[in-house]
Amino acid sequence: MNVCFTLDSNGSVIANLQVKQILLEQVKEEQKLDEKLVKLTKEVQNGEKLDFTVTENGGLFYQNKLCIPCDDKLRREILNKAHTSPYAMHPGGTKMYQTIKEHYWWNGMKRDIADFISKCLVCQKKIMRFGQKGKLSPRFIGPYEILERVGPVAYKLALPP
Ligand SMILES: [Zn+2]
Repeated sequence: MNVCFTLDSNGSVIANLQVKQILLEQVKEEQKLDEKLVKLTKEVQNGEKLDFTVTENGGLFYQNKLCIPCDDKLRREILNKAHTSPYAMHPGGTKMYQTIKEHYWWNGMKRDIADFISKCLVCQKKIMRFGQKGKLSPRFIGPYEILERVGPVAYKLALPP
């Protein structure tokens, strides 16, 4: 689902936001329950925060990105979509951040992404199986380290007699 909306009354800034299954309406309702965002909204309306925008119908945006309230379920849903949806293919943290920050903003997003990936079983298995290069936490180095991967992975197993 594509949603087009106008950010200010002259219509000079128009954002095309791919809301997909996360409804703008739902986020807007949740924004009203987030103390920090409520405070921010007031500051924007008073002209104190120039990086933020409040739309005519009440949604709070940071540089054209929808502000996601402090709601675990909502944030996890976004992280899930950017990471485990059929087209996402478990991207790394940097790529995931790029994708999400195109549309959404919240405080501590990077940290949440790193946290999310560290808890993704598929990603952790991938690291163990292929011994990816790069900075790995020490617990993935050691018994799982594979120095060289030659050709397709196939194992011949000895069957018990
Ligand atoms: Zn993953």
